[in-house]
Formats: sequence, structure tokens, C-alpha cells
Amino acid sequence: MAGEPQDDCLFCKIVAGTIPATIVRETETTVAFRDINPQAPTHVLVIPKAHHRDAAALAAAAPELAADVLRETQAVADDEKLESYRTVFNTGTGAGQTVWHAHAHVLGGRGLEWPPG
Ligand code: AMP
Ligand code: ZN
Repeated sequence: MAGEPQDDCLFCKIVAGTIPATIVRETETTVAFRDINPQAPTHVLVIPKAHHRDAAALAAAAPELAADVLRETQAVADDEKLESYRTVFNTGTGAGQTVWHAHAHVLGGRGLEWPPG
């Protein structure tokens, strides 16, 4: 069920603390941790603690929680002293989504081309 922890979900396990992660921020509703395969000097993932399969499902089911995630992307950027950064939500396998628990990538610390690849 949306919002409930999923036994087979990597990010639910990070929320539960059963898989380690380098956590950089935590709120009542969100966790931010460093991506294990960073694509930029700063590459942090911001996730809701509750399980939702992607960003759109999160926004539909829990708009306040989606806003919490977005607020935390700015907080990460502030902590990392990033003037500019990119927030990415990969949605669907064709866009590179590999983990089916909504997450925002926060990327910064290098030049970011536009349009992205
Ligand atoms: P996506 O491909 O958009 O679904 O993003 C999933 C991200 O999770 C990828 O950038 C992975 O490098 C990252 N990732 C996978 N496993 C872990 C982990 N155990 N800790 C931190 N990041 C992870
Ligand atoms: Zn999950």
C-alpha cells in the first residue's frame, strides 16, 4: 500500500536503518543521503520516509510530503554551499529510474549542461 514500508525496497531499508547510508540530513518526514555512485561533487538523494513509487505518485498521494522533499533539496544545497544545483526526478525505466521509492537527486559542484542528457 502507498506510504507503507516495502520489504523489497532499498530506500525503505535505508529509512529503517537496516542498510547503511551516509545520511546528511533528516527530518520527521524525509531523509537525505549521499548517492553511492555520485555523478557530481555533490550528489545527494532526498527521499520521503514513506514509500511512494515515484515523484508523481508521491505528489498525488501526499502533496505536503512532496513539498517537504522539495524544501529539503534547498536545505541540502544550502548545507553544501551550492549557489546553483539541479534537482532531478527520474521517472520510469527509460529515464533511468532504478529504485522505485520516490527520490530527488540534488546535483551540484560542477558545471551542469543544459539540456541534460
Ligand atoms: P534512479 O536511477 O533515479 O532510480 O536513482 C537511484 C540512485 O540510487 C542511483 O543514483 C544509485 O547510485 C543510488 N543508489 C543505489 N543504491 C544506493 C545505496 N545503497 N546508497 C545510496 N545510493 C544508492
Ligand atoms: Zn520504499
